[in-house]
Amino acid sequence: MDLGLSCASRLQGTSKAPLILAVEDNEDNLLIIDYIVDSFNCQFIGESDGKRTLQIAKEFQPDLILLDIMLPDLSGFDILQCLKQDSLTSKIPVVAVTALAMKEDEQRIQHAGFDEYITKPFQLEDLEDIIRRYLPLR
Ligand code: MN
Repeated sequence: MDLGLSCASRLQGTSKAPLILAVEDNEDNLLIIDYIVDSFNCQFIGESDGKRTLQIAKEFQPDLILLDIMLPDLSGFDILQCLKQDSLTSKIPVVAVTALAMKEDEQRIQHAGFDEYITKPFQLEDLEDIIRRYLPLR
């Protein structure tokens, strides 16, 4: 299943709502995030591939990126670095969504330039708080 394209196709027909791009290689997690984003009446793109993430970020200019760290191709750190180096994407807030729990990983995430991070398994309220904080809702 091509999660990226199937979700991107949902963009047609809806225009003004804020757009969230979630990058996650676990389909269950992606579905949960999609569900929460839907409840905020936001647009959603789900992606599991790092290189496509960079293309989508440039093309669709999401209002927020939720970025998994452990991905099959590029890591979340690599993706963040690419996003921050490109003037088209450098201003987009990026929140790490990560299962990494060790102390040194936490410090690495804090120093990498993410706006914030939440650890998996996350509480639905944690993700809702993030969305409220970063998106221009209503
Ligand atoms: Mn992952």
